[in-house]
Amino acid sequence: DAVATTPPMDQARARLREVFGFDDFRGVQPQVVARVLAGQSTLAVMPTGAGKSLTYQLPATMLDGTCVVVSPLIALMHDQLRSARANGIAAATLTSADADWRETIEAFRAGELDLLYVAPERASQQGFRELLGQARIALFAIDEAHCVSEWGHDFRPDYRLLRPLMDAFPDVPRLALTATADAHTRADILAQLGIPDDGLIVAGFDRPNIRYAIRHRDNPVRQIADLMRAEQGPGIVYAPTRAKVEALAEKLAAASGRPVLPYHAGLDPAVRAGNQAAFVESEDMVIVATIAFGMGIDKPDVRFVAHAGVPKSIEAYYQETGRAGRDGDPAQAVMLWGADDFARARQRLSEVPEDRRTGERIRLDALAGLVETPGCRRAVLLRHFGEEPPDQCGNCDNCLEAPGVTDATELAQKLLSAAYRTGQSFGFGHLQKVLTGVEDDRVVQRGHDRLSVFGIVAADEARLLQPLARALQARGALVATEHGGLQLGGEAKAILKGERRFEIVVPPPRERSRRRGGGG
Ligand code: ADP
Ligand code: ZN
Repeated sequence: DAVATTPPMDQARARLREVFGFDDFRGVQPQVVARVLAGQSTLAVMPTGAGKSLTYQLPATMLDGTCVVVSPLIALMHDQLRSARANGIAAATLTSADADWRETIEAFRAGELDLLYVAPERASQQGFRELLGQARIALFAIDEAHCVSEWGHDFRPDYRLLRPLMDAFPDVPRLALTATADAHTRADILAQLGIPDDGLIVAGFDRPNIRYAIRHRDNPVRQIADLMRAEQGPGIVYAPTRAKVEALAEKLAAASGRPVLPYHAGLDPAVRAGNQAAFVESEDMVIVATIAFGMGIDKPDVRFVAHAGVPKSIEAYYQETGRAGRDGDPAQAVMLWGADDFARARQRLSEVPEDRRTGERIRLDALAGLVETPGCRRAVLLRHFGEEPPDQCGNCDNCLEAPGVTDATELAQKLLSAAYRTGQSFGFGHLQKVLTGVEDDRVVQRGHDRLSVFGIVAADEARLLQPLARALQARGALVATEHGGLQLGGEAKAILKGERRFEIVVPPPRERSRRRGGGG
């Protein structure tokens, strides 16, 4: 690699050792650093933990002038600041939370800073542009750059103001960084931030030491306690709400006998910080947390990440599971899902502003695809990030034990018809009774025993109704209303008309009762 051995790169390697104490670059770091040192604008897509900060911190110590870093979260900024200063880098933050802003501005103007961290809101302040004009700027680094795109999952309008601000300094190169960008979002980031197409550098996303598994949520406490028995090392369990975090932490502690602590934004800040610190130091603790947990924590030996409900998107899933096994040793990622997770997510879609709804729906469908696939989980993940992985990874649930798949198109037509003919206002339980011919009071009172769909599902097929309903809901062909009734949506019509086949993964023939004793 010619670029990697040019004199600036030799110097960069020397700096890497002196300033950061690392023996060598990792992954695409050298390509990114080489571009930055050559003054070329770049978008680096690197997974969490790949070492994005180094790609601007290192050049910042070599280039003449200050590297201005745009970062969306003050808490993250302060973490970065601490670690930069610990390495002896002259760094400061300019945020509403800083009392020492006068000194910071003075040091910035005097050219004494290598790094200046600012929030994107700064870009909208006229005074900030003037301030930049009074200093010498070596580089604009834009962290979490997907925030500039409406295609990204975390659009922040202030990011749109960065472009005009940076355009006022045409000679200063730009380095946009993100861990989470599908092909669409990437193209958008390049366009929005004025980075040339050939400035895109994408790191490999594969985390081969993580074993992925996605299961239906039958009994989350037992399922996660089982995982905790198999993996004695530190683990993170994500739960969707504060109340669920609290409840799950308590039950898991009781079920496993292991140290388990909760973490969520509603805890007293001192307790929360204490729990985080205890987890970071521990070799066997499990922390049950909302997604607020994990950003900016650096614990390499996390042995498992469990999701007690579906994450927000594939990007979020990748990022959250990516906190497992950063040391490279085997680790597990286990997601437990239920149809109600998707029902809730699809309900929320209706509250999303019109212009963003399509993007959100595509994201949700992609997640449903990952959950429902009978194929390799890793392949679905990596394809999502634009890679071309092999069909089988050998280290996910479906590769290790291929699930049975069955064409459930006809059964789906029966279930959808039942929902339709009963007025799209009944839940699964009622539809199941109608289809299997149960004449209970409610069925008879409503005259549902006289419908053509009454009793048309045979006993041997009835077992598939529940997983089918889940799959239809995950896919959006059945949509639960607030009152629990199931309505037709999305692909339902195409399935009813026979224009689309519908395959589902067949569940194992009833979880066998767990073997007793056995002594491992
Ligand atoms: P990201 O922002 O991409 O999630 P970070 O910048 O926080 O990742 O880096 C993750 C961890 O990797 C940090 O502990 C960092 O010090 C470490 N790291 C970064 N680059 C290297 C390297 N070349 N060699 C060893 N460790 C590294
Ligand atoms: Zn696989």
